[in-house]
Amino acid sequence: MIEKTVAEIAVALNAGDISSVELTQTYLDRITQFNGELNAYITVCADSALRQAKTADEKRAKGSNSPLLGVPLAHKDIFCTNGVTTTCGSRMLHNFVAPYDATVVEKFNDAGAVMLGKTNMDEFAMGSSNETSFFGPVKNPWDTKRVPGGSSGGSAVAVAADLCAMATGTDTGGSIRQPAAFCGITGFKPSYGRVSRWGMIAFASSLDQAGPLCKTAEDAALMTNVMAGLDKKDSTSIDKPVEDYTASLSNSLNGLKIGVPKQHFAEGLTAGVEQTIREALKEYENLGATITEIDLPNNHLSVSAYYVIAPAEASANLSRYDGVRYGYRCEDPADLEDMYKRTRSEGFGEEVKRRIMVGTYALSAGFYDAYYRKAQKIRRLIKNDFIDAFDEVDVIIGPTSPHTAFEIGTKTDPVTMYLEDIYTIAVNLAGLPGISIPAGMADGLPVGMHIVGSDFAEAKVLNVAHQFQQQTDWHQHKPTAFGKEN
Ligand code: GLN
Repeated sequence: MIEKTVAEIAVALNAGDISSVELTQTYLDRITQFNGELNAYITVCADSALRQAKTADEKRAKGSNSPLLGVPLAHKDIFCTNGVTTTCGSRMLHNFVAPYDATVVEKFNDAGAVMLGKTNMDEFAMGSSNETSFFGPVKNPWDTKRVPGGSSGGSAVAVAADLCAMATGTDTGGSIRQPAAFCGITGFKPSYGRVSRWGMIAFASSLDQAGPLCKTAEDAALMTNVMAGLDKKDSTSIDKPVEDYTASLSNSLNGLKIGVPKQHFAEGLTAGVEQTIREALKEYENLGATITEIDLPNNHLSVSAYYVIAPAEASANLSRYDGVRYGYRCEDPADLEDMYKRTRSEGFGEEVKRRIMVGTYALSAGFYDAYYRKAQKIRRLIKNDFIDAFDEVDVIIGPTSPHTAFEIGTKTDPVTMYLEDIYTIAVNLAGLPGISIPAGMADGLPVGMHIVGSDFAEAKVLNVAHQFQQQTDWHQHKPTAFGKEN
C-alpha cells in the first residue's frame, strides 16, 4: 500500500481495503524504522496523526469521500502548524511553537488529510542540498552518501522513501523542483500568487510559492486542487477561480508545441542528463507534439539577479528575529544591543548570515541603484523572454538540474551551490508554473525533466506531465533499500 499514489490510496480507502488508521500506522512505523538514517523529518506527530486518521475513517463511514480524506501527508517545516514546533530548519526557531496554522495547512486539514509530521529543510529555505539545516543533512534514499537536493529535501525524501503519501514544499528558486529531480519524484511549483503564503515563513516574498511533492502529476493535481485559491490574508494571492486540475489531465497532446531552450542544453549539462531528456522529448513526439528550439537570451543573468533580489528580501524578512518576541535568545545579554547581536550571531547559520549581509548591502543607499534596481530590470527582461517564447510555444521543456544528486560535502563554495538552480530560478523570477517529473536514470540516479507553462497555465503543465507518465514508468522506479514494505 505504501508505494501507492494518492489517487490509488483514495480508491483503496473508499473500497475499504485499508483504513486511514492502518495506513497512518504503517507510515509511522516506516518513519521509526528509516528516519534515523534519512533525517527527513524534524518532528513526527504520531498521536495527533492517529487521531486525525480515526476522524477521517469515521467521516468516510458516514459517506464522505473527498479525495484526500485520510491520506497521510508531511509538511515542510516552513509552514506554521498550530501547537506543533515550526523550526524552518534553524536554531533561531528550534523551539518555536506556532500559535496558528498556515493557510496551506488549514486547507489540508479541512480536506481531511492526516499530518504525519514536519520535514527537514535548508535553514530558512536557503540552499540546494539540505546541508544548511540546523537539524543536520537529509540523505538521499537512492544513495545515502548523496544530497536529496534542497531546500525541500526532507519532503522529497519522505515521498521517495514512502515515509508519507504526499508532502508540501516551497520553491523560491527551485526548492521543490530540484529535490524532486534528485529523489525521482514529482514536484510542482504553481504560478506566483496561486497558493497563499500566509503562515509560510517568508524567505523572499516576491518569489516564494508553495506546492506539492508527490509521486505523480495526477497527485500533484489533487493536491493543487486543495492548496490553490484566493486568501484574503495574503494580498499577493490571486483572485482567479481555481480550476479542477484533474479535469484536463487526459487531454491529448496532439499538436502541442514544445519549446526547448538552447540555453538549457549548453555548457555545464552532463551527458547522462542530456541524453535522458532528449529521449524523453521523443516520447512527446510520439504523442503528437512538435519540438522547436527557443531562445531565452537573458537566462544566463537569472542566477545573478536572483542572488541580489532574494537576499535583499530575505534581509528585510529576517530582521524580525531579534530575540525579543519569539524564537532563540542568547544567554545573559548585557544590554539590548548585545542581545540583538548575539541572538542573531548564534541563532542563524553561515548561509543565512551571508544572505542577510549581501541583501543589506544591496539595499543600502549607496548601492541600491547599482544592484537592486539593476536586478529588478533584469527580472523584467527575463519575464519578457518568457512572454516572447510563449507566443510561439505552449510549454517549455528541459532538464531540471544539469546533473544528478551530488555527494554530501562536495559543494563547499557558495557560488557553485548557487548555480544549482540555473534552469529553475528564471521561472520564479517570472512567476510561472513549473514541474519536475522523473524522466529516466543516469548512472543509477534519477533525472528530472522540467516543464514550464505560461502564467496560470497550471492545468496545461500538469496535463503535459501526466501524459508522459501514462507512457513511461520512471515515476514508479524506487530506491531499493527503502522501497520495500516492512
Ligand atoms: N537554492 C536557492 C537558494 O538557495 C533556492 C532555494 C529555494 O527555492 N527556497 O536560494
